[in-house]
Amino acid sequence: SAREEGPDSIRLFNRALSEAEEKRQILVADLRQAIEERTLSLVYQPQFNAVSGQITGCEVLLRWCHPMLGWVPPEQFVGLAEQHNLISALSALVVSQTAAELDSKGLLGNQLPRVSVNISALEFNNPALMDTLQQELNGVPQLLPFLQLEITETAALTDLNASVLQLSRLKQKGLRFAIDDFGTGYTSLMMLKELPIDEVKIDRAFIRDLLKQPRTIAIVEAITAMARGFGINVVAEGVETREQLECLTACGCQEVQGYLLAMPMAIDELASFLDKQKDAQDKAQA
Ligand code: C2E
Ligand code: MG
Ligand code: MG
Ligand code: MG
Repeated sequence: SAREEGPDSIRLFNRALSEAEEKRQILVADLRQAIEERTLSLVYQPQFNAVSGQITGCEVLLRWCHPMLGWVPPEQFVGLAEQHNLISALSALVVSQTAAELDSKGLLGNQLPRVSVNISALEFNNPALMDTLQQELNGVPQLLPFLQLEITETAALTDLNASVLQLSRLKQKGLRFAIDDFGTGYTSLMMLKELPIDEVKIDRAFIRDLLKQPRTIAIVEAITAMARGFGINVVAEGVETREQLECLTACGCQEVQGYLLAMPMAIDELASFLDKQKDAQDKAQA
């Protein structure tokens, strides 16, 4: 107990705390520098029509290779960016770099009908941050018609009325919206009922349990049926096995994303992946 512990252990504890805090400060400074110098990179993970296998779009995922620590998980550095006022700079970077990379390869449009970018909860709930993003978008008009923003379920929950307004305002500008990690929150159904969204992404946890827990199949079927009734697109995330894919197709799920179909890849790989895919489709039609 704390009372039995002498001053030494308290001192050690404090030192450990401040060391952790120091590491954190350094990481934040490095992240700030990486954003300024644009040394973060993007990978793209294709999404597919579950039945035809055609590419329907891709999700943009941010990567950071720290010079000393190696790859830092996105959840970790996105969290840091949120806490240290770097999140709008980070999003601006993702949006402009996505546009530049896809544009340079001529991939927008025919080859890639949709591009999804993740937006942090914090950002979505802050109108000022969303304004910054909108400004950034005006600077990259070639991306706008294809762009979809992914927000996690919890993001919109803090204030549903505000979220409805925010979504409607941005949809008028031509943006599309997906709810990410759908089905894990307590108010998933309320969100489906109230929010003018274009897509739901069924959380990976459901796909993982699909063949292990029969009730999961009924849940996925229900989400799919409801979404279809509302004219909302459904994407299953984290599809890793052929059995999962078959089960999802049987559930009526329209689109799939996961390691079974394609890994997240750099822009050059994406370009050749899309070319190969197009050749295969052309051959199949000939
Ligand atoms: P998310 O948006 O739900 O992204 C899907 C995550 O699942 C990605 O992890 C992806 O690499 C991974 N994934 C894809 N297929 C499979 C699969 O078959 N199995 C498994 N186990 N995982 C799969 P990643 O890239 O590590 O990103 C983690 C999270 O970090 C994302 O979750 C998103 O919330 C956040 N994130 C990533 N990039 C950005 C960004 O540019 N901005 C913001 N705000 N957040 C981002
Ligand atoms: Mg996502
Ligand atoms: Mg997700
Ligand atoms: Mg997530």
